[in-house]
Amino acid sequence: MASLYLHIPFCEHKCVYCDFYSIENMSSMDRFLAALEREIELRAHRLPAGESIETIFFGGGTPSLLSASQFDRIFSLIHKHFCVTADAEITCESNPGTVELGKLREFRAAGFNRISFGIQSFHDDDLKFLTRIHTAAEAERAVGAAQTAGFDNVSCDLIFALPGQTPERWQENLRRAVALGPHHISAYALIVEEQTPLATMVKNKLVAPLPDEEDAALYEITISTLTAHGYGQYEVSNFARPGFRSRHNFNYWNHTDYIGLGPSAHSFCKDSPVTGERWWNVRSIQSYCEALEKGVFPVAGKESIDREKFFTEEIFLGLRSTGIDLRKLYPLYGEDVFTHKKEEMDRMEQEGLLRRQNNMISLTSRGYAVCDEVAGRLIL
Ligand code: SF4
Repeated sequence: MASLYLHIPFCEHKCVYCDFYSIENMSSMDRFLAALEREIELRAHRLPAGESIETIFFGGGTPSLLSASQFDRIFSLIHKHFCVTADAEITCESNPGTVELGKLREFRAAGFNRISFGIQSFHDDDLKFLTRIHTAAEAERAVGAAQTAGFDNVSCDLIFALPGQTPERWQENLRRAVALGPHHISAYALIVEEQTPLATMVKNKLVAPLPDEEDAALYEITISTLTAHGYGQYEVSNFARPGFRSRHNFNYWNHTDYIGLGPSAHSFCKDSPVTGERWWNVRSIQSYCEALEKGVFPVAGKESIDREKFFTEEIFLGLRSTGIDLRKLYPLYGEDVFTHKKEEMDRMEQEGLLRRQNNMISLTSRGYAVCDEVAGRLIL
């Protein structure tokens, strides 16, 4: 089983905090789509013969800027060159400011069965601060329209730890998100990424990041509120109703092969059960198109994942999602792989950070908040 990720690098407006690769000028859309089609054709051979695609995710950027007929073309090429399972999860990341009922119906008919809305906040002043192009009311309308259009797998993204955010305001966001009835909610802490306008604002002391302890308190509220409403936590930032965990994300965390297409997209393919190769595309639409027009892969860099690195990633990826599955790890690395960590694990269990149960080592809610630290203590 494998996954496909397609990066659509256009946004109507660049949000101040965002460091994903995207541009506001859409004049190169047709050229980009031609290059993307070429990359689909060239890349299909990278997967072992017979390996099928079980999830497809259009991310960005703002994929929902594309029309249904543009998606039709892309889907027909994907189906021509890849073997897609009949029940594949096919997601479109959408900006609530770019869709309405008619377009969402067309997306559903084009083949999408999951939609993920970047809502971020239900407070218009937060949305203004983040320079989002939509209002809270528009986001609520978009989710309702998706449900009317027949999407029965809807996800909402929220951002917490905005400067000055109080527990009450964040709680209100969670309450309004839950009231919309999505099947899946992702809640990310705001990160001040280098070289974004937000980083400049922080540097110039125009805004102050939320202190760590307040950030941690909002994260605790997130976990307790969402779990109380039936959204099980299955990763540091992801919560889902039963049966609605993102299969695409799961594949990333499970070292499943995935092919990333489009500028800045990353890919990973195993070449043995414990080794593989990761590569990433150029972060420039111009260079991306030029390479593909010459029939060359638009790769900016790659790394080999050896047995040791693969193990480290298994620990990090396993812990940040549903846990490390010893039934999977023991046959690959031996039953004594954690023997020298027994005391450290006992300590972390006593500290309430992890639990060992049914051949799984997994994080508690407290452990999720310090996931990297726990992984480090298991590896070093
Ligand atoms: S819409 Fe999304 S991808 Fe585009 S700039 Fe804003 S956060 Fe980034």
